[in-house]
Amino acid sequence: MKISILTLFPDMFTGFIETSIIKKARLKDLVELNIVDMRAFTEDKHNRVDDYPFGGGAGLVLMCQPVLDALKSVRTKDSKVILLSPQGPTLNQAMAYDLSEEKDLVLICGHYEGFDERIRDYIDMELSIGDYVLTGGEVAAMVVSDAIIRLVDGVITQESHEDDSFSNGLLEYPHYTRPRVYEGKEVPEVLLSGHHENIRQFRLEKSLEKTLMNRPDLLEGRDFTKEEQKIMEKLKK
Ligand code: SAM
Repeated sequence: MKISILTLFPDMFTGFIETSIIKKARLKDLVELNIVDMRAFTEDKHNRVDDYPFGGGAGLVLMCQPVLDALKSVRTKDSKVILLSPQGPTLNQAMAYDLSEEKDLVLICGHYEGFDERIRDYIDMELSIGDYVLTGGEVAAMVVSDAIIRLVDGVITQESHEDDSFSNGLLEYPHYTRPRVYEGKEVPEVLLSGHHENIRQFRLEKSLEKTLMNRPDLLEGRDFTKEEQKIMEKLKK
């Protein structure tokens, strides 16, 4: 997979692409990250990429020319072009799975007041990372690409992400590691038992319990299995 990120602040990505799983994925050639400086495409003699909004008002607006010329330089017939914007649908795990199947993603980061509206005619979709406004799309681009890259085949084991929160519609069960006792707090006995079926049941129960307590909205409309229904009745009591 190739991900091109169009930004005015390429330096912000240095740590991101050089660290941990993202770095490993790049070194294994599972993902190519192409950071493109949109300012390099401006035809303005003062190197400007933004201008005042027609009609007045606060802030500066990114101009069509540098953004769309930068886009032309990376776009292929396989590209899916995503504009990072608080006005788009909010990223979730199901969308991250779908996007991890794409060959060629282009993420466009806004700044200042955002984009000239006409830029929206050249993209495939808008994407938000939540109902709040960031200063720029760079952090959002890192969130989106991180969520996608870890789902690309071979980046982490399938087992590592198939139990993750949201992957099966629930929050993930709790994890414990050494020591067995920390400041008097003990690891649940069942996890030390080596009994796989009991461990599976314990984890399912804890997963349902966490979801019920923290995100009951995720359970609305869920097609519960018989086993899950029994656990839910017990939890509700
Ligand atoms: N004036 C715009 C509005 O109200 O919709 C917000 C502009 S924001 C200050 C600048 C840029 O940050 C946006 O163009 C977008 O690229 C990025 N951004 C801000 N919040 C975001 C969010 N929740 N998700 C994704 N991108 C976001």
